[in-house]
Amino acid sequence: MSGITNLTIRGKSIDLPIFLPDATLGVVRGLDKADLDGCGIDAVVVNTFHLMINPGMERLQQFGGVSKFMNFEGLVVSDSGGFQIMSLLHQAKIKGKILPDGLKFTWRIKGEDKTILFTPELSIQTQFAINSDVMVVLDYFTDPKASKLEQERSVDLTLKWARRSKDEFERQIKQRKLSEANRPWLMGVLQGGNNEKLRQACSQELVKMNFDLYGYGGWPINEQGQFNNKLFKYNASLTPDHKPRFALGVGKPSDITLGVKYGYHFFDCVLPTRDARHGRLYLPKNKFLYIGRGVFAKDPKPIDNNCSCPTCQNYSRAYLHHLYKIKETLYYRLATIHNLTFYNSLVKSLR
Ligand SMILES: [Zn+2]
Repeated sequence: MSGITNLTIRGKSIDLPIFLPDATLGVVRGLDKADLDGCGIDAVVVNTFHLMINPGMERLQQFGGVSKFMNFEGLVVSDSGGFQIMSLLHQAKIKGKILPDGLKFTWRIKGEDKTILFTPELSIQTQFAINSDVMVVLDYFTDPKASKLEQERSVDLTLKWARRSKDEFERQIKQRKLSEANRPWLMGVLQGGNNEKLRQACSQELVKMNFDLYGYGGWPINEQGQFNNKLFKYNASLTPDHKPRFALGVGKPSDITLGVKYGYHFFDCVLPTRDARHGRLYLPKNKFLYIGRGVFAKDPKPIDNNCSCPTCQNYSRAYLHHLYKIKETLYYRLATIHNLTFYNSLVKSLR
């Protein structure tokens, strides 16, 4: 386990390890500030691409960034936007391609098709408009099944884009006259797929560029779709111990427990919020309660007797089952509160 237990970024203090729920569009779906505080959530991840489209940069700048817009005082991490665009490109949901200069794609904005060249510089400029506390360089994400040739191209462009992202980041800091204590942090992202040599080559160059923290890019999943423990552990050994490590998109409770052992500090994942909406509620020891099952229709117990969350303190499984069946929005809120409290207790127990 790595020795970093606490960080202060732009005056915001957080304990590590930490789990960050997804606030893709500037909201953890169904929850407000008081709910997030109640779950003990000190940090969230927002999506740069989605925010760029909606509500757009003009609106965010009007409010001084997404934190003030959503009235959340905790730490805000923005992704680079690249992962989202590349996923849409891979799934052929948008037209475009990956160019040496950035990601070129067409998107319908206010009824009009617009072609955007999403460069490393544009990603950083957009993150400054979002005014996040931790920003991420644009990187080239590949599927675990990608060919060696594509993995090599991914590392090559990831390194070029990381350099350009850092240059733009430093330009913005100078221009805004931000002090060391007031500036955001910048994360470098390691790529290289399942190839240890490529990962090592990528990390060597990134570490020379000296980022504030390092992220695991591309999920640690082997070609059969199983979690790749060995690579996950190896990846952590590639960056210096005095810099925090972010396991991007890693969030199964068992993977978080392993990740902390290996020296990761930050985890983010859609699982707890998405599972909540789909009726999958978390219990200790890798167990789940599927609230939609008929057996819960008469059950007066809370989801988990030992859980301190407001949902478990106030409502029965039977009532939650009823809300779920009638697709009541209150269900989504109560279920998300429980799952996020579970995740927060998990990371706290690992501190
Ligand atoms: Zn609970």
